[in-house]
Amino acid sequence: MTRSTGRPYLAIPGPSVLPDQVLQAMQRPSPDIYQGELVDMVPGLIADLKAIARTSHQLAIYISNGHGAWEAALSNVLAPGDRVLVLATGLFAQGWAEVARGVGAQVEILDFGRDSAIDPARLARALEADAAHRIKAVMAVHVDTSTSVRSDIAALRQAIDGVGHPALLLVDCIASLACDRFEMDAWGVDVMVAGSQKGLMTPAGLGFVFFNDRADRARGRCPTSSYWDWRSRAAPEAFYQYFGGTAPTHHLFALRQALAMIKDEGLENTWARHGLLARSYWAAVEAWGQTGPLRLNVADPAQRSHAVTTLLLEPPQARDLRAWLSAHTGVTLGIGLGMDSPDDPQADGVFRIGHMGHLNAQMVFGVIGAIEAAFQALSIPHGSGALEAAAKVIAQKVIAQPGRA
Ligand SMILES: *Cc1c(COP(=O)(O)O)cnc(C)c1O
Repeated sequence: MTRSTGRPYLAIPGPSVLPDQVLQAMQRPSPDIYQGELVDMVPGLIADLKAIARTSHQLAIYISNGHGAWEAALSNVLAPGDRVLVLATGLFAQGWAEVARGVGAQVEILDFGRDSAIDPARLARALEADAAHRIKAVMAVHVDTSTSVRSDIAALRQAIDGVGHPALLLVDCIASLACDRFEMDAWGVDVMVAGSQKGLMTPAGLGFVFFNDRADRARGRCPTSSYWDWRSRAAPEAFYQYFGGTAPTHHLFALRQALAMIKDEGLENTWARHGLLARSYWAAVEAWGQTGPLRLNVADPAQRSHAVTTLLLEPPQARDLRAWLSAHTGVTLGIGLGMDSPDDPQADGVFRIGHMGHLNAQMVFGVIGAIEAAFQALSIPHGSGALEAAAKVIAQKVIAQPGRA
């Protein structure tokens, strides 16, 4: 690359921005995989990942993307013919359901649409109707990255326990981990899956499956292949067993750096930063939306993710906006994924902003300024004062807490 037109910004909901220090951590020769720095580093990595998941239970790591983590989790707790209940708030729950079918499960989907959170009362009714306790697992996505809907996971556990149903609770935190508050143990989650390329600021290629003792007992019923079996990965006798073979060497060095950065900031502060920056975006969108078509997909702020925002325009304005931004500003925004409708078969009226991981206010303001320019250039009607509104959110927070951004 020889052009010196400034740093491009990929503001899609994963893969997220890689910090320079994370990239630099990968810039090294292959390490010894039998002893030394890499081998010594892994137990600490696992401890730090568990701290981010807020669990004292177990972790299995896979050399995979999120789809691999989905299958790894299900392979350990489902036997062919088992019934599972999938709580859908967008495309990713549907994707996980598909993987469940692939491992031989009988899948029932409760669909909550594309713009609101899972209703725990509906979950409770569905479980009550299962008097024979045939449903082995309830599967939910904490933040569905297609719709940017965030669901209340603690409320799902309360609904399950409230009707005395023994189903395991499996949660996908691939988009939300280290962005939106998540408390695996306190919220009663039995299995949680995550990946490296979103809030964890590391290239795609590491899948994480956190599981507790209840989930591990379910594993006993399931004919898992030795490769997907989480037990040897969580409690290996030899180093290679952590990864079912050669370690993902450079990803681990990258992750080591990324986790150090989260630790240095403090997880509570990381969550708070994501909340603040998300609110800054929402304020801009509300200003723009006062006149013109732009609106947030999720009306209730309590049901919005702090990691990704799905936005609605009139088709094909979102497609044009994204193209204009890439061509003229160096900003790339996310496509409308799983948001097609009869009126908009290509989801050309939908776009997404990723705001996960390595992110600060100037990056948010840059995207808002770029979108403002696109609205003007493309003559898309919009209200004024978006940047002022976004700035105000940040300014008020900094005034309230001097010295803390
Ligand atoms: C990104 C994502 C996935 C899929 O992850 P891949 O790494 O693309 O396989 C699954 N679920 C959610 C919620 C995601 O955000």
